Amino acid sequence: MRKVALVTGASSGIGNAIARSLHRNGVIVYAGARRVNRMNDLDDLGITTLALDVTDPISVENVVDRIVSETGRVDILVNNAGYGLMGALEDVPMDQARDQFDVNLFGAARLIQSVLPMMRQQHSGRIINITSVDGKVAQPLASWYVASKFALEGLSDALRLELKPLGIDTVVIEPGAIQSEWADIAANHLRETSAQGPYQETADRAAAILTAVKRFSSKPQVIARLVDRAALSRRPKTRYH
Ligand code: NDP
Repeated sequence: MRKVALVTGASSGIGNAIARSLHRNGVIVYAGARRVNRMNDLDDLGITTLALDVTDPISVENVVDRIVSETGRVDILVNNAGYGLMGALEDVPMDQARDQFDVNLFGAARLIQSVLPMMRQQHSGRIINITSVDGKVAQPLASWYVASKFALEGLSDALRLELKPLGIDTVVIEPGAIQSEWADIAANHLRETSAQGPYQETADRAAAILTAVKRFSSKPQVIARLVDRAALSRRPKTRYH
C-alpha cells in the first residue's frame, strides 16, 4: 500500500525538495503552504497542493480532513514550515517573537494534534519535525529562532516517548545551512558573524528526510549535524546593531 504524506511549507526550499523526493519514491504526497501559486511545479508532478497556514487552526483542520477523506489515512507528517527571526533580543518586538513561536512550535503542534487521531487509529505513523542545528547549539542574534527550535526539540523528545507505545515514531531532523529563500535573508543579517559553512543543496536535506521515512527506529534520529563546532568557538561575540 502506498504511504500518504503531508509536507508543510512546500512552496520553497527544503519543503519543496522533500515533497518531490517523497513523490519520486512512490509516496502519495499532499503539499501545503500559504503561497499556493508557488507550488505549481509540484502540481505539474501530480502532487496535490493545498492552501495551508499552520497558524490557523481551521486551515490545518481543512487540510487534514481532506487528506483523510480522500485516502483514509495519514502515514507521514513532515513539519517543515518555519522561518527564523534574526536580531538582538532587545530589538525584536514581542509580537514578532510570539509569531515566531506560533509558526515554528505551535504550528507544528497544531498539525500533530490534527493527524494523531488518524495515526492512533492506524496504530502507525511517522512525525518528522524539521528543527535545526540551532535547536541543539545556540548562536547569537537569533535567540527567538533558537528558542523556538530548542522548544520543538523538547516537544519531539517527549512525544517520541509518548507515542512509541502506540506505534507512532517521532523523528527530528536538524539541518545545517541549506540554500533556501529564508537562508538567504538570514545570511544577509549574519554575514559578519556566521560560522556556518557553505550551503548544502536542499536535495541533500530531502535525502536525509527520505532516510528518516524509510528507517524504522524509535531512537532519536539526528540525521546530520553539520555545525562546525570549532568555528563556533572561534566566533567573535559581536552584537548586531
Ligand atoms: P524557506 O523560506 O525556503 O521555506 C519556508 C517554508 O515555510 C515556505 O514554503 C513557507 O511557505 C512556509 N511557511 C512559513 N510560514 C508558514 C505558515 N504560517 N504556514 C504554512 N507554511 C508556512 O525556508 P527553508 O526551506 O530554509 O526552511 C524550511 C525549514 O527548515 C524551516 O523550519 C527552517 O527553520 C528549517 N531550517 C532551515 C535551514 C536552512 O539553512 N535553510 C537550517 C536549519 C533549519 P509560504 O510562505 O508559502 O506559506
